[in-house]
Amino acid sequence: MNPSHVLVLNSGSSSLKYQLLDMARARPGSGSAAGRLTSGIVERIGEGPVADHAAALKQVSEELDRQGLGLDSPKLAAVGHRVVHGGTRFTEPTLITDEVVAEMEKLVPLAPLHNPANLAGIAVARQLRPDLPQVAVFDTAFHATMPEAAARYAVDIETADRFGVRRYGFHGTSHAYVSRATARLLDKEPSEVNTIVLHLGNGASASAVRGGVCVDTSMGLTPLEGLVMGTRSGDLDPAAIFHLARVGGMSIDEIDTLLNKRSGLLGLCGDNDMREIGRRMAEGDPAARLAFDIYVHRLRKYVGAYTAVLGRVDAIAFTAGVGENSAAVREAALRGLDALGIEVDAVSNAIRGATARLISASSSRVAVAVVPTDEELEIATQTYALVTG
Ligand code: ADP
Repeated sequence: MNPSHVLVLNSGSSSLKYQLLDMARARPGSGSAAGRLTSGIVERIGEGPVADHAAALKQVSEELDRQGLGLDSPKLAAVGHRVVHGGTRFTEPTLITDEVVAEMEKLVPLAPLHNPANLAGIAVARQLRPDLPQVAVFDTAFHATMPEAAARYAVDIETADRFGVRRYGFHGTSHAYVSRATARLLDKEPSEVNTIVLHLGNGASASAVRGGVCVDTSMGLTPLEGLVMGTRSGDLDPAAIFHLARVGGMSIDEIDTLLNKRSGLLGLCGDNDMREIGRRMAEGDPAARLAFDIYVHRLRKYVGAYTAVLGRVDAIAFTAGVGENSAAVREAALRGLDALGIEVDAVSNAIRGATARLISASSSRVAVAVVPTDEELEIATQTYALVTG
């Protein structure tokens, strides 16, 4: 019996999420529970008993041991690591070697908060099981197919190239998974469908996927660009930054914090949870209403833009916390778009569910779907495919 377990590790700056999957049973589209053996999270890394990522992974490993599924289990085929930024260097899932780690270290300036945490998780896991194949799966990878016209900013080209200033995109693992799952829902091959994927979680991004290949996405050099998010502003005139520095006397770090952590829904109304915003709107709260309206307006702009980018849209897929759960956001984002062939069915949209489903009216030319994302399953699938050749 060949080893078929894959441990997926998602190391953040202060948390370590893990999930163990049995790839002999996990099948895309078989429902999120199939093949999932166990999962969990170690939080508050750097505080108290969990001094660092080594201590966190030790805790995970002990927990897995208790379930008879430890890191030394002969059933374990590989570890798959989520890595946020692959730059232009990594556009595929990559078997981790010393050389690959050295290359990944060079990318830290592009993701100074995320990549060091990812690297810490990789280092510890490799120490524990140096013999085991370990694979890096990059959040940027799915977007590497964007044509230069979409990936480039209109910035002095030498300066841009010198500092790597271009659009990389993020949430790629989710956009890849959801665009394929949407094709499956329509009983088509990914190559046959053009899809707009709206990943609306705390972070949010849109992508335009033509025949399974990403041709545009809303996040850019960093995850700040694009849609309105829980705490990020999304698109903004870059001159607002000069203005805040010159007139507001703010430092670069203060502006960074303002736009990434204190803006978006939170900055507009004091809440970044769409559930709470919905409750406040029902009570007639004007700040919550305005935050919702700005969020939805931006979303509609991207749907329109990506409709033009794709030329023909077959499906629009909503995913992640807000996309999977907020019928109000879905309805408002696509309201009145009949002229684009987009018609949401109010009844199907209101029904809650945990599996991929259509919410478009039967007369809608464009299929509108709610498709739960599963980044861990996608990382495990890519990892397993790489190590089993
Ligand atoms: P992350 O980006 O952190 O992975 P998620 O994809 O889990 O986030 O999305 C989290 C967000 O989803 C929450 O901040 C909240 O706004 C939203 N959300 C979760 N459940 C619901 C719900 N039932 N209705 C509306 N929004 C929801």
